[in-house]
Amino acid sequence: MLNSLRSIVQEVNAARDMKSALVIIVTRVKQAMKTQVCSVYLRDAQGDYVLMATDGLNASAVGQVRLAAGEGLVGRVVVREEPINLEHAEAHPSYQYFPETGEERYSSFLGVPIIHHRKVLGVLVVQQIEQRRFDEGEEAFLVTMSAQLAGVIAHAEATGVVVAPGEKATQAKFAGVSGAPGVAVGQAVIISPLADLRSVPYQACKDVDEELAFFHRSLAAVREDIKSLGSQLKSRINREEQALFDAYLAMLDDASLGGEVSERIRKGAVAAYAWSEVILEHESIFNSMSDPYLRERAADLRDLGRRVLAYLQESNQKTRIYPDKTVLIGEELTASMLGEVPKEKLVGLVSVLGSSNSHVAILARAMDIPTVMGAVDLPFTQLEGRQVIVDGYKGNVYSDPSDNLLKQYEAIELEEQAIVKGLEALKDLPCETLDHYRLPLFVNTGLMADVVRSLERGAEGVGLYRTEVPFLLRDRFPSEEEQRAIYREQLGAFAPHMVTMRTLDIGGDKALPYFPIEEDNPFLGWRGIRVTLDHPEIFLSQIRAMIKASEGLDNLRILLPMITNVHEVDASKALIHRVYSELVEEGYSVKVPQIGAMVEVPAAVYQARELSKKVDFLSVGSNDLTQYLLAVDRNNVQVAGLYQAYHPAVLQALQHVVDAGHAEQVSVSICGELAGDPGAAILLMAMGYDVLSMSATNLPKVKSVIRNITLVQAKELLAEVMQMAYAEQIQARVNRALREAGVTRLMRTAVTDEAS
Ligand code: PEP
Ligand code: MG
Repeated sequence: MLNSLRSIVQEVNAARDMKSALVIIVTRVKQAMKTQVCSVYLRDAQGDYVLMATDGLNASAVGQVRLAAGEGLVGRVVVREEPINLEHAEAHPSYQYFPETGEERYSSFLGVPIIHHRKVLGVLVVQQIEQRRFDEGEEAFLVTMSAQLAGVIAHAEATGVVVAPGEKATQAKFAGVSGAPGVAVGQAVIISPLADLRSVPYQACKDVDEELAFFHRSLAAVREDIKSLGSQLKSRINREEQALFDAYLAMLDDASLGGEVSERIRKGAVAAYAWSEVILEHESIFNSMSDPYLRERAADLRDLGRRVLAYLQESNQKTRIYPDKTVLIGEELTASMLGEVPKEKLVGLVSVLGSSNSHVAILARAMDIPTVMGAVDLPFTQLEGRQVIVDGYKGNVYSDPSDNLLKQYEAIELEEQAIVKGLEALKDLPCETLDHYRLPLFVNTGLMADVVRSLERGAEGVGLYRTEVPFLLRDRFPSEEEQRAIYREQLGAFAPHMVTMRTLDIGGDKALPYFPIEEDNPFLGWRGIRVTLDHPEIFLSQIRAMIKASEGLDNLRILLPMITNVHEVDASKALIHRVYSELVEEGYSVKVPQIGAMVEVPAAVYQARELSKKVDFLSVGSNDLTQYLLAVDRNNVQVAGLYQAYHPAVLQALQHVVDAGHAEQVSVSICGELAGDPGAAILLMAMGYDVLSMSATNLPKVKSVIRNITLVQAKELLAEVMQMAYAEQIQARVNRALREAGVTRLMRTAVTDEAS
C-alpha cells in the first residue's frame, strides 16, 4: 500500500497538467484498491462539485455531473468534511442516481473529501457493484491518498492558468505574501541556481541548428568528464561500479536521452529546458518503480542531468541582458542574486519560497523594491520574458495582465510617487507628537544605497547596521582592512549621529556561500553570536575593523545578535575590551564603544534585567522574537498567517523588555520590522521605547503618524489593546486609530479585489 501511495503521488506530481494528473489519480487508485470505479469531483468557480475524471463511469459524464454541497452522497461528504463509507449506498437518504454516468446501481460507496488549507477542494470516490464494505485499511488508504493529493491538486489548479509557450496568453493571478510594499510593472527574468533541474525557465530557441550543435558540444564535454572520472577511479572501484560509468555514457547517446532532447530542441525549446524536461520525466519513472535498486537509479540520472545542465547553462549565464524594467523571479531568491541585476533596471522581485520576514524581503524593503514572497503556485519556469505586475501590498503577482489592469496599476505607481513626494516634505521636521513628545527615528541599513536614502529622509541615527550584508555579497570573508573601509563609510556618513553595528549575524536563513552551515533546524542552531564566539578570529577582526573605523568619529555602538544567556554577553564584552586595549596600545585614538544586546529570543525577554546590568542598551529584534515566541518559521509561507506581529503575547513581551531595561536605566530600542509599521509604532512609543529603528522606506510614514497623534492618545490606545485576546482585534483597533488620526492613505494594502 505504501509503495502504491508513494508512486501514485510521484506520478501525479510529475504530470504535465491538471487533466493528466486527474487521469493518473483515478486509474491508479482504482487499480490499487481493486475496485470498479474511481472518480474525482472538484469544486468549480460557482462552488459546485463537478465530476472531473473517472475510471469506470461513462467518460462522457465528465464535466456534466455536478452537485451542490449537501447534494447527493458526494455533497454529503463535502459538508461533513469526513469520509462516507457505505455498503448499501442506495439505501442512504442522500443517494442520487445520475443516468448520464451510465452508472449501474453500484452498491458500495466510499467517498473522502480532498481538503486543502481547511477548504474542501473536491471528493475522491471509489465504487463497486457488489456489496462490499471497504475495510478500515482501505478507508485509511484513500484518506491518506486524498491528503497527499490535495496540495498537488491545489497547485495544479492554481498553476494551470498559464498557457503553454506559444499560445496566446491571458491574465493570471497568483497569490503570495507581501515582501516589500509598492507596485511594479515589468518583464519577468527568471533566476535559478546553476544546475537545478526543476527551475530551468522555458525559452524558445532562436536557431535550431545552432542549439543542436551547442547541445552536442556540451554532451561531448560531459562524456570526457565521465571518462576521465572513470579512469581516475579505476583502481579504487570494482567492475560492477565501473559499469555505471559505461551506463552513464550510453544514456547520453542519440539512441537514448540525447535523441529525445534533440527532438524537443527541434520543436523549439532551448537545450537547457529540453534537457531538464527529459531528465525529470525519466526520473519520475524511476522513482515510481517498486524495485528499490531501480529506484536508486533515479539518483544517478539526476546526477548526470545536473552535470550536463551545468554545461548548458554556463555559457548562457554570462551573456544575460536584463530588460529595463526587470522583475526578478526565482524559486528561492537570495541576497546575492539581487546583486546580479543592475540596480537601475530592477523594479520588482518575486520569490516562490520564503515569507515576508525572510532576509531577502528585508533587503528588498531597504532597497525599496516591491516584492512578493511565497508565491508557491507560480509556474515560474514558464514566465521568462512575459509581462508581470508585482503587487507588493497585497502579495499578488499577475502574469500577462489585461490592458485594463495595467492601466490601474500604472495609476497606482503615479499616485505612489505623489505620496512619497508629500512625505519628503517631512524630512526636516522633528518626529514629535502633537503634545510635543520627541521620539527619535533611526534606520536599519546594510548597503551603501540605504545610507543616501536614509539621510534624505531625515534619519537621526542607525539603529541596526546589518554587517552580514557586505559579507553576503562577497565570495570570501572580507579582510579586516576591507571591513574597516566599509564601516568607516557608514560611520562617516552618519556622524555625529550614532551608528549601531551588529556583529556578524549568519546562520538561520543567512548562509554565506563560502561558509556553508548545514543543519536540520538552522533557526535553532548555530547562528548569530554562537558562530562568532566559536570563531573568535572572525569576531575579533570584525571588532577591530569597527573600532578602528570609528577613530575620530566616536559614534559607534556595537550590538550582539541572538543573545540567549548572560555568558554570551560576558564573553563578547571581554573580547571587545581586549581589542580596544590592543588598539590603544597600537596608538589608535579610539573610545570604548557602547555595547548592546539584542533581545530576539524568549530567554532574553525573561532575562532582560540581568542583561541590562551588563550592557549599555537593549535592542529588540522583533522579527526573530515573534518567530521564537509563536513558534512560527519566519520563512515558511504555509504558516505566514500565524506570524502575527500584533499577537497579544508579542505585545506583552515587548512591554516586559522595555520595563526591565528602564528599571536598570538602560535605553531600549527596537529594530525589527514592527518598528516600521505605522500602527505598531504608536504602540511602541506608548510602551516607552526610546528609539524606533526601521527601513528608510517606512521612516516618513511613521513620522507622519507620530506627528498626527498625542502621546496621551497613544497610551490610551495601548491600554485598550493590551486587554484584548486576539491579534485580529488589536489590528482592527489600531487601524481605526490610524483612520482617526487621518493617516489612512499610508495604510494602503493595494488595489481592491474588484479591481483585480
Ligand atoms: C530581528 O530579528 O528582528 C532583526 C532585526 O534581525 P534580523 O531580521 O536581521 O534577523
Ligand atoms: Mg534577528
